[in-house]
Amino acid sequence: MEKDLKIFEEICHKHGLKVTPQRMAIYKELINSKEHPSAVMIHERIRKYYPNVSLDTVNRTLITFSEIGLVQIIEGRGDPKRFDPNLRPHHHFRCLRCGEIIDFYNEEYDSLEVPEDLKEKFIITGKRVNLEGICDKCKNLN
Ligand SMILES: [Zn+2]
Ligand SMILES: [Zn+2]
Repeated sequence: MEKDLKIFEEICHKHGLKVTPQRMAIYKELINSKEHPSAVMIHERIRKYYPNVSLDTVNRTLITFSEIGLVQIIEGRGDPKRFDPNLRPHHHFRCLRCGEIIDFYNEEYDSLEVPEDLKEKFIITGKRVNLEGICDKCKNLN
């Protein structure tokens, strides 16, 4: 946690973004959450101690964080944007029933090569394997 906040401050300073208590609070909620929260989820938590902060502000703050590389935006089929503060290379499993997105690590997936034709066509800035299915909790509900 301490270390995360230090990194947060460093990255903000590097990009000329002021470290305000409100931004800090939003970032803390983000890294405390293991569920790749949406702006709405973060806003609900932040409202408890910053009642005047609007959803729009939370949303804009999260987008700013993504622009300076503090978080990544994950988007799925018409879902609201979800934010991912885990900057270590990792992959996702998404449950089709409950929508939970679970991080997993796999060295073989990390070293997957980007196809040559895509490398020529696009500028690739990241790669991630997305697996989908039914998570263990939902599987056991049957
Ligand atoms: Zn599930
Ligand atoms: Zn993740």
